[in-house]
This record gives sequence, structure tokens and C-alpha cells, in this order.
Amino acid sequence: MQRRDKPEWQKEIAEERIAILFREAGRTKEQKRANRYVFLARKLAMKFNLKFTREQRRKFCHKCYAYLHPGRNVEVKINSKLKAVEYKCKACGHVNRYPYTKEKSKSKR
Ligand SMILES: [Zn+2]
Repeated sequence: MQRRDKPEWQKEIAEERIAILFREAGRTKEQKRANRYVFLARKLAMKFNLKFTREQRRKFCHKCYAYLHPGRNVEVKINSKLKAVEYKCKACGHVNRYPYTKEKSKSKR
């Protein structure tokens, strides 16, 4: 029994489209539109069995799926006890936590 899997080239296009959707979501000033982009990106990811990158996962609330604009509709805090970065969504109040213990691979700064 083999699960129907999408061809690789289609996945690549879907990945590209997801990246574009997130980019556009970050550019628009309309929250509604940004949320819509997140919705579309999630649908694409589901359809093609794709995973969001770490950066992409942090850009939306995992409860209400609102696009999170830093300084606009999200509060970012460091929780040193949990060793996690907390993104509090101002739309629904949900706190999205991302542990930073395994974040050694990417050292930009
Ligand atoms: Zn939310």
C-alpha cells in the first residue's frame, strides 16, 4: 500500500509559493490579507506534505493562525526558565513557545 505522493517538482513549486506567501504576508499592512496568506500557505503545505521552515513556523499563531507582525500583534519575550522564546498572539492570547536550546546551527549575529 503506497500513499499517493506528489511528484518532487510539484513540491518544489509549492515550497516556492509558500515562501512567496510568507514574504507577501510580511509586506502587506492589512492583517486580514496577511492571515489569508498564512491560510493559503498552510493549505499548500498540507496538500503537498511539506514542512514549514523554522522561520515560517514562527510567523504565525498556531492557535488562530494569524500572521504575527513583531511589534504589531505579537509580544516577544524570553522565558529563561523554559529556555524558550515566547510569542504571545494579541489576537487570541495564545502563547507560542519556541525552545532555543537547539538553536546553535544558525549563528547570524
Ligand atoms: Zn492567535
